[in-house]
Amino acid sequence: SVNEIRKDFPLLENQKVIYLDTAATSQKPVCVLEAEREFYEKYNANPLRGLYELGEAATEKYEEARETVRGFLNARETAEIVFVRNATEGLNLVAYSFGSLVLKPGDEILVSIMEHHSNLLPWQMVCRQTGASLKFMECEMDGTLDLNKVEALITPKTKIVACTHVSNVLGRVNPIRELAALAHRVGAVLVVDGAQSTPHIPVDVQALDADFFAFSGHKVYGPMGIGVLYGREELLNAMPPFLTGGEMIESVTRDGAVFAELPHKFEAGTVNAADAVGLHAAIDYVKSIGFTAMHQQEVALTRRAMDAIGEMPHVHVLGSEKPEEHCGIITFTVDGVHPHDISEILASDGVAIRAGHHCAQPLLAYLKHPSTARASLAFYNTESEVDRLLDSISTLRERMGYGK
Ligand code: PMP
Repeated sequence: SVNEIRKDFPLLENQKVIYLDTAATSQKPVCVLEAEREFYEKYNANPLRGLYELGEAATEKYEEARETVRGFLNARETAEIVFVRNATEGLNLVAYSFGSLVLKPGDEILVSIMEHHSNLLPWQMVCRQTGASLKFMECEMDGTLDLNKVEALITPKTKIVACTHVSNVLGRVNPIRELAALAHRVGAVLVVDGAQSTPHIPVDVQALDADFFAFSGHKVYGPMGIGVLYGREELLNAMPPFLTGGEMIESVTRDGAVFAELPHKFEAGTVNAADAVGLHAAIDYVKSIGFTAMHQQEVALTRRAMDAIGEMPHVHVLGSEKPEEHCGIITFTVDGVHPHDISEILASDGVAIRAGHHCAQPLLAYLKHPSTARASLAFYNTESEVDRLLDSISTLRERMGYGK
């Protein structure tokens, strides 16, 4: 039950704030903190370097974490799992390394209009460097992607299709498997931003047929500073390293180097083993709760919120009308009230939500809402927290000076 779950998240219980900003970063269960502490207390040494016992233990913990991530994504090979800092770094790695390898003037990259800036700016950058050009898949006003429209945009010029699995504004799950089929038909690769899907739905990169898939540890109840890039082995093998230096080489001479095997080729410098171990604990925790139970609680809370908001004439929720199509994300506007005022008033009521463009400015411009408010729920939130949110929202206009 959620009461039991709350015991795993002392911050939610101890702080006075009602935390409804999980899409920005999730809270972390105690087992994640304990796993990090145990790593530093018992296994700390530079992984992949020290040939003494402690160094080997650190390496083992780090590689166990990688194997756990492989299972979490159902990748074929452990070598396909590259540890990075966050989803942003994973996506940049693909853009720089794979993009510069395959793109030439006249080629096209197709991205969705709903991308987070971290799955847009790297592509803008690589277009400037290679002479490729960027095209956009637009969505319907409720956030659905019409695959017939997408199909018309994919041509033999298309080399890369990049799409978020779940939009951080709309919360809807995109048809990744279908996009993969369309991309693969013309020999393009599909790059998936999994930052918002991994915390809420099971991911199987083989079933999705994704070529690259990136996510952030801190959004899946794990630590900040660790993220993952999955890439198909043959693609990763063909790609040049993104960063170079120590730990990613076999041998080095005065004027050259032989790079290490995957995945180490892409992990230059001392690795973030402690946070990888924390991510391992977070994934074990997610498994122990189960996505089914998480989904049930998230949908129940989202339904409660959306039903009540539906009765408020001046409040509008973006995206699907169905609570089960939101991954806990409720992005909304209130007529006549600026989202920054919404979030400030809610903050004064002890409710933490997000306001602004949510690092998805092209989407908000397209939807003609330059700024919105966003409450994002997780399985660890309660009905009474949602009710506090609703109480605050229902009095917003009055408190801004509008009549009842
Ligand atoms: N993509 C999406 C859809 C996101 O919501 C976020 C985080 N807001 C990111 C990418 C970037 O994640 P990070 O900042 O952890 O790299």
